Amino acid sequence: MPYCNEKQVSRRKLMARTAALASFFKFTETRAGAQSGAQAGFNRNSAPSQLRITDMRAVLVASNYDYPIIRIDTNQGVYGLGEARDAGREGTALVLKPHLAGRNPLSIEPILDSLRIFSNHQRMGGGYSAVDMALHDIAGKVYGVPAWRLIGSKYRDRIRIYCDTTESKDPGIYAERFKRRKQMGFTFFKMDLGTRLVADKPDAVNDRRVATQKGLEYMCEYIQAVRDAIGWEAPLAADHFGPLTVNDSIRYARAFEKYNLAWAEDMIQVGHLGPGGDAPKDWRGYKELKEATTTPIATGESLFGLEEGFKDLIDHRAIDVIHPDPLTAGGIRETRRIADYASMNGVETAIHFAGSPVGCMASVHMAATLKDMLAMENHAVDIPWWGDLAAGPSKPIVNSGYISVPDAPGLGVELNEDVVKQHIRKGGYFSPTPQYDDYILDRFRTGGPYPHLDENGKPVVRQ
Ligand SMILES: [Mg+2]
Repeated sequence: MPYCNEKQVSRRKLMARTAALASFFKFTETRAGAQSGAQAGFNRNSAPSQLRITDMRAVLVASNYDYPIIRIDTNQGVYGLGEARDAGREGTALVLKPHLAGRNPLSIEPILDSLRIFSNHQRMGGGYSAVDMALHDIAGKVYGVPAWRLIGSKYRDRIRIYCDTTESKDPGIYAERFKRRKQMGFTFFKMDLGTRLVADKPDAVNDRRVATQKGLEYMCEYIQAVRDAIGWEAPLAADHFGPLTVNDSIRYARAFEKYNLAWAEDMIQVGHLGPGGDAPKDWRGYKELKEATTTPIATGESLFGLEEGFKDLIDHRAIDVIHPDPLTAGGIRETRRIADYASMNGVETAIHFAGSPVGCMASVHMAATLKDMLAMENHAVDIPWWGDLAAGPSKPIVNSGYISVPDAPGLGVELNEDVVKQHIRKGGYFSPTPQYDDYILDRFRTGGPYPHLDENGKPVVRQ
């Protein structure tokens, strides 16, 4: 009897469990049914596992700088837009086409890992960065989420913008331009403070065209005029000092201390990566500068990658603010990684940007996810047709000193073909690129046939 009772209990337990499971599956079925509906935003036209990259094309827009915009196409019609660094060339991305063709664009990190070796500082980071943006555009469209959601959560709904302001040798006129920026709604400012502003004044520069103590006093008159125009509360950064050594930079930074700058940018311009000198690798020089002044020191607009470009500067606390441009630094994912590392190590982040609405909105998605960020640059607020290049973002894109973070799938940007075609520098509008179908540069590739020796030492030809 006890056996019989146990069996009866077991059966009762089993029946109860079966009933519970049935109601669970009924529940999950209902939930799954709800997610498969249109309200889930999933792109029913795409089969993610079957998605393949079929092509990459480009258009080069002529603006304040050239904007190399790329498009990655797939076998399912969904495509992604990306942009290489302003004043760079689309070829930095197009040479990567054979490395992408046939791959699933949703494999974002494996693809980017394989492209990393083709990336470098200054404009050579543009190809990797453009591909990163286009892959996030595609993935966002496929999964029905904004690009920012693919890399994290949103810390802010709008991005604070600071903008380029044309300089004048007349401090009064220069200050008026900043007053106008303030009236437009900007709350963060940056001034170009080139030594050339004072170069024609008596005893202002030495024979290297670097400001003397007298020249620095003249330069301070410009900062004072701008401070008088925008007030002392507003953050004010300064840039474009000229070809300075470490000692020059220290003299400049100390002279500016009384103006409480948000940062002094790219001060050390001697002994670095190529002409222009805006890709510093000399973290020791920057550390000397930073430790000699209370003016915050920023650099990084032409550096690529955390390990390749930013890590030494951050690890050694050689600067106060990193200033990556997502169109050089590695796009959405790598720039987020760099900024996270900076934040973890007590270094602040500001974003450099001078491209089209495509790269702008990709940078906005990235910036939305940063725990700490000061502001993002825009170089085009005085170009009336700049925002017309794209549809999607709310207009004006820069609105009272901020850009709203989109919630549309992917980057939330489509090009206005008619407007873009009015501003093509050269080449066509996403013309075919068969010249990039085959590998132009790569690591070791098997090919052959190669002459070789067999195990008996006799020459053979290996296929
Ligand atoms: Mg700069």
